[in-house]
Amino acid sequence: MAKHIFVTGGVVSSLGKGLTSASIGMLLERRGLTVRMQKFDPYINVDPGTMSPYQHGEVYVLDDGAETDLDLGHYERFTNAPLNRDCNYTTGKIYQSIITKERNGVYRGKTVQVIPHVTDEIKSCIRKLVTPGVDVVITEIGGTVGDIEAMPFFESIRQFALEVGKQNCLFIHLTLVPYLKAAGELKTKPTQHSVQELRKIGIQPDVVICRTERHIPDEDCDKIAQMCSIERKAVIEEKDRDHSIYEVPLSLHGNKLDEIVVEKLHLSNARTPVLDDWKEMLGRIIKPAHEVQIAFVGKYVKHRDAYKSVYEALDHAGIAHNCKVRLTRIEAENVEKDGAAALMGGVDGLLVPGGFDKRGTNGKIEAIRYARENNLPFFGICLGLQCATIEYARNVLGLTGANSTEFDKHTPHPVVALLDEQKKITQVGGTMRLGAYDCKLLPDSRAAAAYKSELISERHRHRYEVNNDYREQLQNAGLVFSGTSPDGSLVEVIELPNHPWFVGVQCHPEFKSKPIAPHPLFRDFIGAALKLRQSRKDDRRPVIVG
Ligand code: GLN
Repeated sequence: MAKHIFVTGGVVSSLGKGLTSASIGMLLERRGLTVRMQKFDPYINVDPGTMSPYQHGEVYVLDDGAETDLDLGHYERFTNAPLNRDCNYTTGKIYQSIITKERNGVYRGKTVQVIPHVTDEIKSCIRKLVTPGVDVVITEIGGTVGDIEAMPFFESIRQFALEVGKQNCLFIHLTLVPYLKAAGELKTKPTQHSVQELRKIGIQPDVVICRTERHIPDEDCDKIAQMCSIERKAVIEEKDRDHSIYEVPLSLHGNKLDEIVVEKLHLSNARTPVLDDWKEMLGRIIKPAHEVQIAFVGKYVKHRDAYKSVYEALDHAGIAHNCKVRLTRIEAENVEKDGAAALMGGVDGLLVPGGFDKRGTNGKIEAIRYARENNLPFFGICLGLQCATIEYARNVLGLTGANSTEFDKHTPHPVVALLDEQKKITQVGGTMRLGAYDCKLLPDSRAAAAYKSELISERHRHRYEVNNDYREQLQNAGLVFSGTSPDGSLVEVIELPNHPWFVGVQCHPEFKSKPIAPHPLFRDFIGAALKLRQSRKDDRRPVIVG
């Protein structure tokens, strides 16, 4: 029988429940257990796909095309648990299913209510992850205890524990223990109140994990244990890490979290955890031998979470080369104002990530021109590939006004355009080209060299495509279409053979990079940047570190 761990949060939002849940999953997997991960988000959007990155941060895409919360990115980077659309439910998605059933007469004349219909629906979503061979399902509840919109989820997990037996469930509550400078003390009261809030709705946490800037003295942990009716050893400190989020599982392991989970859930098949490769990987993060400076030209560069997986994948590539990857984050619009040379002087590479809408696209195109003309390694992702195609059409082919029809409906040269099947679509949510698609690569390309394979599969999230009407012209001018859909009809990868490393991809490779398995394209991009950096060092030319 599968065991269940429910991770809830209190005191403040953005505590890192996703990272903590992922770390628990990782530790249990490394004890030989089979884990599944799931997140409930209490907001009403059916998925985060329609939300602005400012609102929600990155939209994380799964193989099956589900557009999900970015915490699922942590789950995939930390664990091997397979994820699909059953691993992320919002209130909107739950209600959408209930309302469809109601319209189809499934409820047979009953009044449809939060209890039992919504709670039953939520519980059935938890059960979907229990398949043969699964030892532990970890379910994270988004939001903070006490939020009105999260209530049905809390009520559902309370009921669920009664139904499957309390001995099969573990409630882990994550809180904040703030340091008050004026008092010179850490404060446990918010944690006490937050646990009271949980108990009011019938949930007694088994474990409390306390996020803190400073080490929590024993007497404060004793107080939390006593006031919250929790065993002392189940009050676990999670102190801010100095170097990397990848330290979190080791720090929780050091504080015996996995030992307590195994004991409380009677996971008798758990073995001692194998963590050597993870420790080795962390060693490289903490003491890198080299460093590179990458210009990152995007539209949401001030928002920490908007390009989460891209930032992580760059760090992973750094791990592969024992190299610290530093970023010069540049607002694309500033390139339009100040010019690429002024903002990108001295960098070792350029990355242009995915994006939507016109704002800043000319800045991205200008940055790409600078990289192409100055032999600066370039990696374009999704919109990055589209901008590189536009740049080549404008500046090499001389097609004045070349553009994507996303940015200029009346462009004389629509080198990037909508597929016919996308033209008919009017609904916004979930209608892009989403999820995993195969791609075949040219044998002697940089892409094939990176992947060491000529057939790959990557995740997508876009509507527009390189326009096949311009393929021949672009190709004759030197742009290589090194990856296409298996039938050849869609451009998937572009590159320039006479450049140190210039690759654009229509997919989002960042979603498949892990710290212990860096993505091959990110790895080779950073490899090329490092090569440039080292050749410059030999030239004794100054390098500007921003
Ligand atoms: N806006 C472009 C499209 O829809 C690129 C999307 C992206 O970068 N994810 O095709």
